[in-house]
Amino acid sequence: MMTPQDAWDTTYHQLQLQLDQAKFDTWVRDARFLRYDGDTFIVGVRNTFARDMLQHRLYRNVVRVLSDAWGKPATIRFELLPVASGKAHAEHAELPLFQIMADARAPELPTYAVAEHAPVPTYAERVSPPLPASLPEMELNARYTFDRFVVGPSNHLAYEAVQSVLDAPGRHYNPLFIYGGVGVGKTHLLQAAAHVSRAAGKRAIYVPSEAFTNDLVVALRTRTTPMMREKYRTADVLIVDDVQFLAGKDSTVEEFFHTFNVLRESGKQIIVASDRAPADLAPLEDRLRSRFSGGLVVDIGPMELELRMAIVKLWMHEQNIHLSDPVVQVIAESVSSARELEGAFNMIAARVRLTATPIKRDDAVHILRRLEGPRVHHRALTLAEIIAVVSAVFGVTVEEIQGKGRTRAVSLARQAVMSLARDLTDLSLTQIGAGLGNRTHSTVISGIKKVAELCASEPEICDHLETARGRLLGQR
Ligand code: ADP
Ligand code: MG
Repeated sequence: MMTPQDAWDTTYHQLQLQLDQAKFDTWVRDARFLRYDGDTFIVGVRNTFARDMLQHRLYRNVVRVLSDAWGKPATIRFELLPVASGKAHAEHAELPLFQIMADARAPELPTYAVAEHAPVPTYAERVSPPLPASLPEMELNARYTFDRFVVGPSNHLAYEAVQSVLDAPGRHYNPLFIYGGVGVGKTHLLQAAAHVSRAAGKRAIYVPSEAFTNDLVVALRTRTTPMMREKYRTADVLIVDDVQFLAGKDSTVEEFFHTFNVLRESGKQIIVASDRAPADLAPLEDRLRSRFSGGLVVDIGPMELELRMAIVKLWMHEQNIHLSDPVVQVIAESVSSARELEGAFNMIAARVRLTATPIKRDDAVHILRRLEGPRVHHRALTLAEIIAVVSAVFGVTVEEIQGKGRTRAVSLARQAVMSLARDLTDLSLTQIGAGLGNRTHSTVISGIKKVAELCASEPEICDHLETARGRLLGQR
């Protein structure tokens, strides 16, 4: 159970990662969680300008991070920590002089006058609402570290490449492009690189390309592109996962391309991962594809049996569970990727914990048979399923989607199908076109582009598309 104190602690650490050091030290470092009251977090701060800064300028950002940590919407009130009394004086005596000065004289300090007196809004503030101080960054998975990453023949090259990039970021292989199928450990490797860079004091951003797109959509909608640029273009190491999802999203590709160039020119490291090689990333723009090919391209092959077995042994060790070698082998043989491996391992581990007797090979086989049914593996969606869901969400009939009509609503629904089919099936663009009333491969490409453009400029369209995507993912 997460306590309010835990939620605040997480928020505090997130802010430490997000804000630049001067900002963090000035406004947040001394903040303390005091109590949780109804649904308000009461947080104590040392002086009035920290309070005002947090309560006004930084508020939206802090609340967003806190709500994420808390798992539901939260509000915060900042209070002054009690000062005075003999003991507090003694503490004060050890503080650097300027801080005592600031404490005592805050209201008169001209620099802080804006925060102290109710500010008269500027013209710009009146026409557009106040902005969060900075965009939040994605949290890393604490389990995706190098010490939990088993190296074998299939991933050894990618592992070495990441290591040499970390030794001299921005120097040798820029960008580093890693590709491989589902569940071969791309995300794990990328996040491990982010952990290491951050530990070395670097500003490392890990972002799945969809989140990058999303940041851009929000930035365009709220006219905050400068802030979005600030976030990404100040990274020391930018790590973008699943770049295959950039294909067809023109404004995102454009933004990413410029970010990429800015970072590369200033010697910052870029690492990307994709489910396919740069050359196979069509219809991604040529200029971005050639950038990707311009650094070091390494692939991670399908995991060999020995590697899967070694991963199971790592997990056994971590969870203090003993399994015989034949059982380990049965688990590793029952699946083809590490993602499914976890499901298989968990089933066996649960059984071992419940019964406290060693499990035999045949029992393991029997238990794992159940995986064959609902399968941990996602099944591929069909074009017909996508058309049906889009028809329901966009309010257009299946016949219209597959027909000749070109009214705005019908075209839009058809383009949504193209885009979703590209993301959620293995169908080629030609096959997608064929299933949509014999349209050509290039019609599909321009349809995918079109819907991405509309999505960036019209929030409702984006919402519809995401609703449809959500339903489809639920059906897998
Ligand atoms: P991808 O991003 O390539 O689809 P992930 O990085 O999400 O794959 O890996 C899927 C799961 O398998 C994760 O739980 C990850 O920790 C684990 N995994 C993948 N490769 C390894 C490895 N070499 N050693 C240990 N665990 C791994
Ligand atoms: Mg991944």
